[in-house]
Amino acid sequence: MAFSFHTHTLFCDGKADAATMARTAFENQYTHLGFSAHAPISLETDCNLPWYKADSYVSAIRSLAQEYAPKGMKIFLGLETEYAPGIAMPNDPAYEPMHLDYRIGSVHYITVPGEYPFTVDEPEEQFALHVQEWAPDGDYRKIWKRYWRHISEMIEVGGFDIIGHFDLVKKNNIAGRWFDEENRAYVDAAFQALDLAAEKDYIAEINTGGITRSRRSEPYPSVFILKRMQEKGIRITIGDDAHAPSHIGICQLKALEIAEIAGYKALWYMDAPGVWKEAALASMKGQRR
Ligand SMILES: [Zn+2]
Ligand SMILES: [Zn+2]
Repeated sequence: MAFSFHTHTLFCDGKADAATMARTAFENQYTHLGFSAHAPISLETDCNLPWYKADSYVSAIRSLAQEYAPKGMKIFLGLETEYAPGIAMPNDPAYEPMHLDYRIGSVHYITVPGEYPFTVDEPEEQFALHVQEWAPDGDYRKIWKRYWRHISEMIEVGGFDIIGHFDLVKKNNIAGRWFDEENRAYVDAAFQALDLAAEKDYIAEINTGGITRSRRSEPYPSVFILKRMQEKGIRITIGDDAHAPSHIGICQLKALEIAEIAGYKALWYMDAPGVWKEAALASMKGQRR
């Protein structure tokens, strides 16, 4: 059993077409693969699925699903939606005609009233410029304050199935450049969002995109957050956040080991829209060696 519900393609900011991504997953013995294009939003970006391509995205993924079902790999149609006030919402009814199997709810944007929004995962130096402009007084705690507030609000508003890369806000915080991730107030804000997710029974993902594509050595979320998720009974799945064929499955063994360290015995996978099942960590690890 191997799965990931976080896959990008040329329809958004991925580097390969959907067929290549599906073939690679199949060659890696995947049993379940979810496509999650960055959802169309009201801003024009290079990263999001544009509205005019939404129909071809839907038909491309649906036809791959038909092609691979008889071969033993289930393919699901999803979107990685944004919680970004004034820009996009996971529960936007505009996505309904796509008849999605699932939605990931993610926070990438820091929205500042009156200013052009920026993302917490943009290139390091661009991020530095934006942050310094936003916080000229040097109080960079406002980065994570705004981020965790958005995560909590997103969970309150709902309209999605999986919480994407729970602590993405740390992406550009290499060696604690902007804030202290062990600071009590930071941990409290993260745990507050997490407790809300537990209350609402959301699935979270271990997202290996940060290990695959940047310099972070831990997945999203960090181990201390995963431990708390385990204690609170939050079910977790796995997301490669693959933007290229080489990202598929590459860091899963490490993610499974980290899940085990956090106390998890099993992960969860979507077997049909809205139907989540349990897979023992031990069996998944055996397959990834
Ligand atoms: Zn994302
Ligand atoms: Zn993604």
